[in-house]
Amino acid sequence: MTLTAPDQTSTGYDLGPAAALSCRACGHRTPLAPEFACPQCFGPLEIAYDFPSITREEIERGPKSIWRYQKLLPVPTTVQDHPNMDPGFTRLIRADRLGAELGIRNLWVKDDTGNPTHSFKDRVVAVALAAARELGFTVLACPSTGNLANATAAAAARAGWESVVLIPSSLERAKVLMTAVYDTNLLAVEGNYDDVNRLATELAFEQEDWAFVNVNVRPYYAEGSKSLGYEISEQLGWRIPAQTVIPVASGSQLTKIDKAYGELVSLGLVDGADWKIFGAQAAGCSPVSTAFREGTDVVRPQRPDTIARSLAIGNPADGPYVLDTVRRTGGAVTDVTDDEVRDGIRLLARTEGVFAETAGGVTVANAKKLVETGQLDPDADTVLLITGDGLKTLDAIEHQVGPKATVPATSKAVREALGI
Ligand SMILES: *Cc1c(COP(=O)(O)O)cnc(C)c1O
Ligand SMILES: [Zn+2]
Repeated sequence: MTLTAPDQTSTGYDLGPAAALSCRACGHRTPLAPEFACPQCFGPLEIAYDFPSITREEIERGPKSIWRYQKLLPVPTTVQDHPNMDPGFTRLIRADRLGAELGIRNLWVKDDTGNPTHSFKDRVVAVALAAARELGFTVLACPSTGNLANATAAAAARAGWESVVLIPSSLERAKVLMTAVYDTNLLAVEGNYDDVNRLATELAFEQEDWAFVNVNVRPYYAEGSKSLGYEISEQLGWRIPAQTVIPVASGSQLTKIDKAYGELVSLGLVDGADWKIFGAQAAGCSPVSTAFREGTDVVRPQRPDTIARSLAIGNPADGPYVLDTVRRTGGAVTDVTDDEVRDGIRLLARTEGVFAETAGGVTVANAKKLVETGQLDPDADTVLLITGDGLKTLDAIEHQVGPKATVPATSKAVREALGI
């Protein structure tokens, strides 16, 4: 892995294997610090590592949470001495019935609805909180499209930290309540997510003790998504699936799953393999799939209008890196309509008993489209990322599903209603 000269790493922070911050745009390296933009070019910073040697057995003996990969994440070695949500190690299920409907012979679903606040965001927040504590912050904060709000408020509550959560005022009722219940400082902001994000960036400069998990501690936060790539590989018996389909909002999760696969190969934990990464968007917010289709590197911002609100980021920070990743691996980024998203939710529920939020509907519907258009190989091992729970977006399906009939309490009426 990338090694750094010792004089650039002597920061005094214990952030495990993290060695330095490195600019994704120009490659400039700076010591670990509460920074997120390159001092040379203002490009986004990410973590560079100096990994210890590590074995599969050592990982397998670890806790059943993301902390089994602690030696691969930018968190203090003492991370487990503090209360945290212990997310991760969610189930990877074989999805033969869904596979039969989609025409994919070897299909798995990574079911991240099983996290403490029912989305994959618990992973990134857990890493952000651990790093923020080490970096000296005292308040946990975020701008959110919903799931991050839930995860941030809950993690702060469990850690005994104050939190400040900013959401667009149009958010789903369930996501508002599932945040407010943790007694956070929740503010509904007039505007869409991109407005809320701009506001958070401004506040991050003014409030020096506030760690906005996805803004000023973003380099640390983003690495939490690597745990998904590690888990998928470990749960498949230490191999990398040939195809992975991932929903895209800011694009961070997609790039980090690919990063995790690469690290596992470099560390000798899996055999070298080829894999393709696919990005899934909703047509009503499709800046990255549009750029992919048009064959350009420039992601032009859009004004989101889709039921997939957790993916409704019109100006995605990692958009260009998503394009790099899918092009380098031979994947694609596609999008589907809101009706297809609803169908995707219902198809997954009907075939596998997994109730996903709209983002999951986006993944399933895009997988269907990718097979139909010949972009996804139906014979190759494929994993779909289900990143959030359907209970959070009940409004998306409330006009689609319900009782077949209301009947009097007689067996005759039941038989009649069921056509028996
Ligand atoms: C945030 C979110 C995503 C996408 O995450 P990015 O890393 O911003 O692309 C996907 N699914 C759900 C349910 C989310 O909440
Ligand atoms: Zn730079």
